[in-house]
Amino acid sequence: MGALPVFRWRLAPDGYATRRQLRARGLRPGGQCVAAQLERPRRRGPLVAYLYRVDLAKPVRPMTPGRWAALAAANRARRVCPACRHDAGYVIPTSLGTCVPCAYADPDGSEGSTPHG
Ligand SMILES: [Zn+2]
Repeated sequence: MGALPVFRWRLAPDGYATRRQLRARGLRPGGQCVAAQLERPRRRGPLVAYLYRVDLAKPVRPMTPGRWAALAAANRARRVCPACRHDAGYVIPTSLGTCVPCAYADPDGSEGSTPHG
């Protein structure tokens, strides 16, 4: 226990947070050991809080590889135009239903807009 760095209350360096502060950011210690101690001065003796390293903390709801893949697939599906089957590079606007070039394409298939006359 003596190896743990001890910081004064409110003087904790950046990158450290208590379990409660981690929780506020949607993080959890994630199995890491206590990285430091925080000493809170009290008349009846110091109150100690335990600090964890933020860079070692993990999200409260961990993303598994399967969930990342599902999320990526869902995002990609939303970018693929149902008309031309191309990845538009952006999410297809639901108001258009297709990518922008398809939505404003000439029904005859000619390139660009040619004014009548
Ligand atoms: Zn398209």
